[in-house]
Amino acid sequence: MKKCDLLLKNCREVVTPLYDTARGAEAGLFNCTSNTDISITDGFIDEIGENLSREAAEEMDASSYVALPGLIDSHTHLVYGGSREEEFILRLKGASYEEIAAAGGGIKNSVHHTRSLTEDELFELALPRMEELLAYGTTTVEIKSGYGLDTENELKMLRVIRRLRKAFPDTIVATFMGPHEIPPGETEKSYMDKVCQEMLPRVRAEELAEFADIFVEKGVFSPESGKRYFKEAQKLGFRLKIHADELHPLGGAELAARFKAVSADHLMQISHQGIQALAESDTVATLLPGTSFFLMMKDYAPARSLISAGAMVALASDYNPGSNHGFNMQFVMNLAAMKLKMTPGEIINAVTVNAAHALSLSDRGRIAPGKRADLILLDIPNYKYLFYNYGINNVAKVIKSGMVIIENTRRISHMPQL
Ligand SMILES: [Zn+2]
Repeated sequence: MKKCDLLLKNCREVVTPLYDTARGAEAGLFNCTSNTDISITDGFIDEIGENLSREAAEEMDASSYVALPGLIDSHTHLVYGGSREEEFILRLKGASYEEIAAAGGGIKNSVHHTRSLTEDELFELALPRMEELLAYGTTTVEIKSGYGLDTENELKMLRVIRRLRKAFPDTIVATFMGPHEIPPGETEKSYMDKVCQEMLPRVRAEELAEFADIFVEKGVFSPESGKRYFKEAQKLGFRLKIHADELHPLGGAELAARFKAVSADHLMQISHQGIQALAESDTVATLLPGTSFFLMMKDYAPARSLISAGAMVALASDYNPGSNHGFNMQFVMNLAAMKLKMTPGEIINAVTVNAAHALSLSDRGRIAPGKRADLILLDIPNYKYLFYNYGINNVAKVIKSGMVIIENTRRISHMPQL
């Protein structure tokens, strides 16, 4: 009999994308099979099927669980100092995000607090966030720098991310985002000079990040700065990402397509030409509905237009201390259904294979032989329930590289006896 490390017996449902990317006519296609076994060896899936016979080192009765690939969150700002609940209360009273930023709040607030903390302190703050995020089913997460805004502090943030990568192997992807905001005392031009001449080469030399990202927006960085940054970053071997067309349609999506960026993120105000440009490219359109929700905006990204044009769509949390203080990808999936009008299949593909593509990862995102055994087991009757049973954690167990790393329980161990 064949051997395996872990055998999941009789999963109530196994739900998985069919292909390594999903777009066009295939955007919403996925597979759902009942009473299915999954066999795992050396951290990878080796077979899926009914009644697999295996000599398993460990066997689990999975008959009460729906199995999904681990969720992939391809856009977060998880490392930061301070918190911005005061601003949130101001926003509830009617102040806009742009008004708060103009008054010295916003990203600048997080920069102040991030600069004031040591590498150790930032690491200690990030650890419980990582643990909580894993408990909610995210088994791969991208983390950006961008609250340092000078060479020393950007490198400090990236070293924190490097330490997190060691603590959570094969889980974290690092992105340099020096051009997140123009720091006080600098002009767009003077800061861009520093980013291109000093920061990018240092980040490359220390191999601290695979991706380079920039915020192209009115009052932040112009498309011209975006172009310059992309050229420099590409020359050094970075793969590109961009915060594009979030508040104003500045052509960020078109720029991303032209430079073959791996993803263009946000896109709430993307133009018709931008949609066409992404549809004709391999650049992933990464939508962040949690941000529209948390900023209480009317506008959500035009997911339906992007999908019908043929663009590859991913979903991510944009977890950060200001514009979206939430990393629950299950809630992002629910928002995608209710606000972006995406179908369950499109959403499942957008948080798995398409998100993996936005991070240039091909070893994960599907429950298929040869893929990394990153799985979540959901304590629900069927996959549709995941969208219906919203706002709570439906994940019972998290399996990372073939190992059960988290078991969530809602059971009460003791009740007070009066
Ligand atoms: Zn962001």
